[in-house]
Amino acid sequence: MYSRLYVHVPFCREKCGYCAFASAPPRQDELAHYPALLLEELKSHPTPSSPLRSVYFGGGTPSLLLPQQIGYLRGEIGKNLGIAPDAEITLEANPGTVTASSLSAFKDAGINRLSLGIQSFNDHFLKKLGRIHTAAQAEQAFREARSAGFTAISIDLIHSLPGQQLEQWRNELHQALRLGPEHISIYGLTIEEHTPFAHLYPPGSPLLVEEDLSADMFELADQLLTEAGFEHYEIANYCRPGFASRHNCGYWTRDGYLGLGVAAHSFFRDGHGLRFSNADDLPSYRHALHAGHSPSTTRQYLTREEAMSEYLFLGLRLTSGISLAGFEEECGISLESAYRSSLTDLIRLGLLRQQGDRLVLTPRGMLLSNQVFSRFL
Ligand code: SF4
Repeated sequence: MYSRLYVHVPFCREKCGYCAFASAPPRQDELAHYPALLLEELKSHPTPSSPLRSVYFGGGTPSLLLPQQIGYLRGEIGKNLGIAPDAEITLEANPGTVTASSLSAFKDAGINRLSLGIQSFNDHFLKKLGRIHTAAQAEQAFREARSAGFTAISIDLIHSLPGQQLEQWRNELHQALRLGPEHISIYGLTIEEHTPFAHLYPPGSPLLVEEDLSADMFELADQLLTEAGFEHYEIANYCRPGFASRHNCGYWTRDGYLGLGVAAHSFFRDGHGLRFSNADDLPSYRHALHAGHSPSTTRQYLTREEAMSEYLFLGLRLTSGISLAGFEEECGISLESAYRSSLTDLIRLGLLRQQGDRLVLTPRGMLLSNQVFSRFL
């Protein structure tokens, strides 16, 4: 049914201008009471048939919870659901919310992978983005995490920031490489609806980076990171060998996962797949649990066609692509029969490539991945 657990922490000290995630500054005792709500929800779900292979505390800003709260949650998750001895246990942390001692305490609480939301090493851009930390604080947090004993550290970087030049992005990448993380996630800034950035930068805004420059930034990242020995294993993700995010790979290969908390999504391997998601605001989530109801507000059993689309647009994100035999086994139809004309077109356009049993995006296909995926919807 599921083998992975995602825990959403919907709090941030301040809201960043570009962010559309479910998060807000916590009020009064919300932070203190949130773990109890998570446990209440956890106990309402079936237990997995084998211990969890990964646990991911995401957000929001999970590092706003105290290490003792994370340790308590980890203990209760282990007691109630079981956690495999070699499970990957990730905590997302905002560099503006951690100290040398809290990082040490998170490590002692059982976190073995840290994902630091650095986003930029340039104070001008950090300020524009509305981040609560400076570049110096981000570097300090990284070094303190290393001293605390974290051997798997991921950092996030954003390119295509308003007014950003290619050389500035090159500097960002060099600074990231100098720090020496095991994993780097690279995103191009997207302007999401209902965010302050959507008002600041309406479509066509001259301050935004041109599409060609954005593509150059993606390609520069790919060149510098692969030259430095990183594996490009997913459209937006690079790792040192052996340090791919096991939890996130589970999403792309359609492993089942349970999502706990406000706005958390779950996927169970039931039939062609069952997706459900929780109320996306804390009062509704809390109210449902206190009334003894499920906090989920959406629930959808996938049809075979939907499962087929998902298999493709999730699996093709990985540079290893998808297995043709795997597709047929899971969906009961060969890829050729299901998508003959789309496949022929996309291969002819140089966006997809078949290598034996694998179908993969070409480098150009990665740049235009949304167009590729739209052919499988
Ligand atoms: S810290 Fe992350 S989740 Fe929080 S507002 Fe900023 S981008 Fe969004």
